[in-house]
Amino acid sequence: MNLHEYQGKEILNSFGVRIQRGIVASTPEEAVTAAQKLTEETGTSWYVVKAQVHAGGRGKGGGVKLAKNLDEVKSISNDIIGMMLVTPQTSAEGKLVNQVLIAEDVYYPGESETEEYYVSVLLNRATGKNMVMYSPEGGMDIEEVAEKTPELIFTEEIDPATGILPFQARKIAFNLGLSGTAFKEMTKFISALVTAYEKSDAAMFEINPVLKTSDDKILAVDAKVSLDENALYRHKDFIELRDIREEHPTEVEAKAAGLNYVALDGNVGCMVNGAGLAMGTMDLIKQAGGEPANFLDVGGTADAERVEIAFGIILKDPNVKAILVNIFGGIVRCDRVAQGVVDAYKNMGDKINVPIIVRLQGTNAVEAKALIDAEEGLNVISATEFQEAAEKVQEVLA
Ligand code: GDP
Ligand code: MN
Repeated sequence: MNLHEYQGKEILNSFGVRIQRGIVASTPEEAVTAAQKLTEETGTSWYVVKAQVHAGGRGKGGGVKLAKNLDEVKSISNDIIGMMLVTPQTSAEGKLVNQVLIAEDVYYPGESETEEYYVSVLLNRATGKNMVMYSPEGGMDIEEVAEKTPELIFTEEIDPATGILPFQARKIAFNLGLSGTAFKEMTKFISALVTAYEKSDAAMFEINPVLKTSDDKILAVDAKVSLDENALYRHKDFIELRDIREEHPTEVEAKAAGLNYVALDGNVGCMVNGAGLAMGTMDLIKQAGGEPANFLDVGGTADAERVEIAFGIILKDPNVKAILVNIFGGIVRCDRVAQGVVDAYKNMGDKINVPIIVRLQGTNAVEAKALIDAEEGLNVISATEFQEAAEKVQEVLA
């Protein structure tokens, strides 16, 4: 589950990770009040207005702007709230901005230069251990750093038995080129960040930039936080952080119906039971010259009701030119699924305007095929073998 920057920063702050302070606002008026409050709390006289959407690269898209007084806070907030923000990480139409974070300006001039670093905490799936990934080249596109100067990206693995050790935090601060007060601040920052990651059951923390201020404070200017949804039962207070306005509407609907659905950009809808079979089916569609329009795992109970809901969800996507149903009948018998497909088809009437290729294999597969073949007037094509299903997809797309 992805969070907004302001929510991620609140979590960091609650674990003692220093952050660029800010207050979220939904209207230009609220933004001004937030700025006034921020000045009372921090003494700041300049502010940054930051669009809150689930996408990075907001600065590049005009979603992060400096405001030097309350009038500017108001006019910039007025411009940003309600805009469709396009960044390198959004679609061409962009994302609607519902809220802005009014944050203190932390790039003030002083004794030393400000510096930007990159720090993330994530799981290394190859070793099964969490790691800190970091680079002195922060602020910019980390993908570009990885491509052009991979030697400037470092990793530090954390032993789950000990957690991050003091020498590891010092090594990170050293590799980032710090010394003196800033060095010490960075070791504290890193230790607190890793603890926050572990204690909040996060899936990813990406802090870009981590800033060294001109008076040697180390703080998180940005926070991309993703929480492990499977661990949310342990964090009841995190559940309300979900912002469904940021999610794909069809995916939200599918989730509410208990279906595991991910929208993709292809032309062949898939309805499958089991995630592994769903992946295999997507490969099959590609081999047949199509592109999967979605990932959809209907789970164990593929009865008429669920099949109908699943068809409805798949057909919301106007790019779908055909649907491939690929079900393995184990406990759920194939003939029941076939009946479900036929019933759903009949119930939905003319809402189904594309051919459906049904491949059922397993318990009672023969009866299932006979059942479908006996139906007349439905645009349903049966197949028994995987390859045969692929060929039929190819035929209907041609
Ligand atoms: P992103 O573009 O979505 O990654 O958003 P960030 O939160 O990383 O902000 C983008 C950029 O805005 C940063 O890299 C900074 O250069 C700039 N920025 C953020 N906070 C401040 C601030 O307090 N003062 C100034 N002058 N610039 C800031
Ligand atoms: Mn950033």
